[in-house]
Amino acid sequence: MNGITGANGDLRFSSVAEVIERLEPSYPVFCIFPDILRARAKAFVEGFPGTVLYAVKCNPHPFVLEALAEGGISHFDTASITEIAKITELMPQARCYFNHPVKGRGALKAASDVYGIADYVVDHMDELDKLVSIAGTDITVEVRIATPKGKAVYDLSAKFGAVPEDAVALLKEARKRGCRTALAFHVGSQCVDPAAFRIAMEIAAKVRDAAGVPLDYLDVGGGFPAIYKLNVPPLADYFGVIEKARDELGFDIPLLAEPGRALVADGCSVLTQVHLRKGDDLYINDGIYGCLSEIRDGDLDPPVRAISRSGPVEGDAQPFRIFGPTCDSLDVLKLPFHLPEAIEEGDWVEFGLMGAYSIGMQTGFNGFITDTIVRIDGMHEEFVF
Ligand SMILES: *Cc1c(COP(=O)(O)O)cnc(C)c1O
Repeated sequence: MNGITGANGDLRFSSVAEVIERLEPSYPVFCIFPDILRARAKAFVEGFPGTVLYAVKCNPHPFVLEALAEGGISHFDTASITEIAKITELMPQARCYFNHPVKGRGALKAASDVYGIADYVVDHMDELDKLVSIAGTDITVEVRIATPKGKAVYDLSAKFGAVPEDAVALLKEARKRGCRTALAFHVGSQCVDPAAFRIAMEIAAKVRDAAGVPLDYLDVGGGFPAIYKLNVPPLADYFGVIEKARDELGFDIPLLAEPGRALVADGCSVLTQVHLRKGDDLYINDGIYGCLSEIRDGDLDPPVRAISRSGPVEGDAQPFRIFGPTCDSLDVLKLPFHLPEAIEEGDWVEFGLMGAYSIGMQTGFNGFITDTIVRIDGMHEEFVF
């Protein structure tokens, strides 16, 4: 933990400007906006025609989990025993689903015996065997089907998901053994085309009809986008497509969704400091091995702004290349970032929309880690779209 901010960095502020004024941080600061997270959770829960599970891996920080719970989330998509343990400890009443298609035997045993998990995803017959041999048959087996690669930034069917005929066989076998059955898919993360959900639900309907077993629910996964760019359809469009497909395809069963990114992206920012400027190159104190790894991997360009001790840095913008703090030459952000020409050493660069796949993906490489976490009350006026 950072010696300057004290244990857990559990400090509350009313704005990023106040963080700078009080801390003048030369270390990176992860800013969590509970009011935004609460509002996003509430809107999703009210808009989605079913039960909303939060995908914990997206941002597992307790402040985030707490805010989402206050916004009405009480079901969680978990992928490891660590995530299950964390949710259970923070919220004993919460319901966790073990939705990783490949699970270690030890994790399965703990999930079943210690945590009483009732829902498990599988996409292969051997995994079903393993699951039933350890957790028994008083469970819901969610068969994950692969979906076509559509307009998502990250494809999540290249690694997991059964083709329709295997999914049919899995459903029949799970049922034959006495388990309850359900269907799940994930259209890919940051999916900017609502029709991808329709296409996946059509595949699910075919699998359902061919298997002829009763289904507890249909889990439409995550993939709902955050608004990094202005051309992203609103969530209401996704909910509309899903509701219509549910009715037209005869899904007379509960729906589940597992959003991660859409719930948390704009509820956090990363406040970094410029440690050196060399011409058009800026060297800052967070990077691809820290909270900013998605800027390397994904086609995502978060909003940025430059702030000095006396307020926002003014003036015309120019493109800068931004380097992270580690010794690795790969530690450079993919896009040119447009920041004021006058930016200099000691100024801060705040990256907005950094709630998803950021703090949970840090490596600590080279000793650089963003471990000062602050809570900021109110909405983030500077990054509202
Ligand atoms: C990662 C993941 C999610 C969350 O995806 P988002 O794109 O962040 O909404 C949901 N479900 C599963 C199974 C996942 O692997």
